Amino acid sequence: MISAQEALERLREGNARFVSRQRNLDALTSERRREKVAAGQEPFAVILGCSDSRVPAEIVFDQGLGDLFVIRVAGNIVAPSQIGSVEFAVARFDTRLVVVLGHSNCGAINATIEELGRGKKEQSRNLRSIVDRVRPSVEALLAMDCNPEQLVHQAVRANIRMSANQLRHGSEILEQLIQHEGLMVVGAEYSLETGVVEFFEGV
Ligand SMILES: [Zn+2]
Repeated sequence: MISAQEALERLREGNARFVSRQRNLDALTSERRREKVAAGQEPFAVILGCSDSRVPAEIVFDQGLGDLFVIRVAGNIVAPSQIGSVEFAVARFDTRLVVVLGHSNCGAINATIEELGRGKKEQSRNLRSIVDRVRPSVEALLAMDCNPEQLVHQAVRANIRMSANQLRHGSEILEQLIQHEGLMVVGAEYSLETGVVEFFEGV
């Protein structure tokens, strides 16, 4: 089993390779590797990331087939099906690190800020179910009166923190594993501009 700290180190190193363009995509996706993991997977980290097309987890962490168990949803929100996916991965594969991966200038955050500013509700109830989960992070910040750019930046981080806390405390299975089995849930932000992932919460 790969410990949470070791997994974190692998992700940091992988992101450094991505940023410095020393990636090795051929080895990560080779036929040999595909055949090896077809028999079974042992992902060393679970990533709950945003669906944004510019933040594919495997690419920004320079990982290949079988390395990461990835859940992507707009705004990296936590609803029951996301918790269930994380529970499944950590229980089935003994994965010890869970990363909530948000990113700069996230569209889900911007949409939530816009909606709160307009005072009008999103028409689609399906979309609204996402905005409603982001809303508490943004509302707390709106009361603080910061400039628009700062607001987005801080709301992105607040939303990542909220998702991480929901994973830590929204599941008995995960809570037990955190207390007794070394499971870690951490928060990270990817910069669209630099490609750097900053682990800023829970590490
Ligand atoms: Zn996003």
